[in-house]
Amino acid sequence: MRNDTLFGKIIRREIPATIVYEDEEVLGFKDIAPQAPVHVLFIPKNELIPTLDDLQPAQAHLIGKLALAAAGYARREGFAQNGYRIVMNCREDAGQTVFHIHLHLLAGAPLGQFGAA
Ligand code: AMP
Repeated sequence: MRNDTLFGKIIRREIPATIVYEDEEVLGFKDIAPQAPVHVLFIPKNELIPTLDDLQPAQAHLIGKLALAAAGYARREGFAQNGYRIVMNCREDAGQTVFHIHLHLLAGAPLGQFGAA
């Protein structure tokens, strides 16, 4: 299935992004509207999974790959020790806007607590 989401276009280099990580399965790029000093999105490159709720058991390893890519990036960039947050929004109440699963990595300053607005 062709991935016509915004992130599909970034994977195919049809629209620009500041790519900071890439391997066989995962792409990492800077969020265009950062919510913290460091805000990077990690996405699976080869499978179109609209939301976490669509994830199939055979695809479960991809979530681990996203998490490992984020953790590795944090270590290399030197903020793993101070800490960071990873977030995955699922559908409307969480504010999901791009329907290709992605892990947000937020870091670089103390992050406030979060919950219902
Ligand atoms: P979500 O709200 O969880 O679906 O997250 C989507 C994220 O994509 C938001 O944080 C947006 O700021 C980010 N975003 C939207 N367009 C772009 C883009 N062209 N390049 C990088 N990040 C983007």
